[in-house]
Amino acid sequence: MSNQKQRIGIFGGSFDPIHHGHLLIAEWIRDELQFQKVIFVPTHIHPLKHNPSVTPAHHRLKMVQLAIASNAYFEVSDIEIRKETVSYTIDTLREFQKQYPPDAYQLYFLIGQDNLNQLHLWKDPIKLVQMAQFIAFGRPGFEPSPEAQPFLPFIQFIEIPLLEISATRVRERLRTGKTVRYMVPDPVIEYIQTHQLYRNPTG
Ligand code: ATP
Repeated sequence: MSNQKQRIGIFGGSFDPIHHGHLLIAEWIRDELQFQKVIFVPTHIHPLKHNPSVTPAHHRLKMVQLAIASNAYFEVSDIEIRKETVSYTIDTLREFQKQYPPDAYQLYFLIGQDNLNQLHLWKDPIKLVQMAQFIAFGRPGFEPSPEAQPFLPFIQFIEIPLLEISATRVRERLRTGKTVRYMVPDPVIEYIQTHQLYRNPTG
């Protein structure tokens, strides 16, 4: 019966770098929806984000590991980055379904509302929203586009406390020598400093 299934949250993102916005979202939703765990899935190359200066995947993976180390409910998966090719969420979910078969587990896919208006461009979007329960969380000012309408009935919206942090903002601040303390966990800041990440616009 579905309400006896274990609930697994899947949280995909560039995590370039991971910040407290991500951690708050994952923990809040985990608690609200009683997930057994949340699996962070850093993307190798986001098919819709052609950003040539994306930080190498092994660094982004390590920063996620450092950020989540103190939370027993959090895990990270290298399923997408070890493929070294473009990753599609539907393929990732199929892989997770092998590990967490649908008769015993319900998969939940966490998605920022800002991404919903692009969902129609993802691979097999209708199948995708039927494979996992999509949980959309807010960034302010979301207006669904006409293209997003067919998916809305499949999506559960959840309110979270909003933290106005984005990885883009974190990167900009690091480039200009500004503090990111309390935006990013301390061990991640140490890692960024040790490996001299986000120092210049090309890498
Ligand atoms: P970037 O600024 O590089 O686009 P990001 O901070 O939005 O990065 P991603 O790693 O792409 O981070 O985020 C994964 C998901 O988390 C996305 O769906 C994004 O919308 C969402 N997200 C990130 N930060 C926040 C935040 N502070 N509040 C709400 N949603 C967020």
